[in-house]
Amino acid sequence: MMDNLRYKLTKFMQGRYGVDNLSRFLLWILIALIIFTTFVRFPLGRILEVVLLIVLYYRIFSKNISKRYRENEQFLRLQSRFLSFFKNFRSNMSQLRDYHIYKCPHCNQRIRIPRGKGHIMVRCPSCGYEFHKKS
Ligand SMILES: [Zn+2]
Repeated sequence: MMDNLRYKLTKFMQGRYGVDNLSRFLLWILIALIIFTTFVRFPLGRILEVVLLIVLYYRIFSKNISKRYRENEQFLRLQSRFLSFFKNFRSNMSQLRDYHIYKCPHCNQRIRIPRGKGHIMVRCPSCGYEFHKKS
């Protein structure tokens, strides 16, 4: 009985796209939305939930595998760009906390100086120009 069901399911899924990263991501959005709309009155949320569900089913059972594959690739590219943006943003912020960023008055090279060292001589690493700065 179970084997028969599994067989039928396997047969049904043959030639169909299945679950990918984009589907998993949409599923998480859907779950978050469902939780959100249980606590907050958000009439548009119900429509969004149905739309997401339709898109999910459509993609998972789609037979246009190459097109779904391309969508997923696009999604992964966007996702990695998004994640690296936040990673850079965070490291930039922590650099600003611990360092001053100066520009060499001679060649405009950006120079990173640790904060809290008082008056110091800065030597530009690219042109060798020296200047005083308070850090
Ligand atoms: Zn310089």
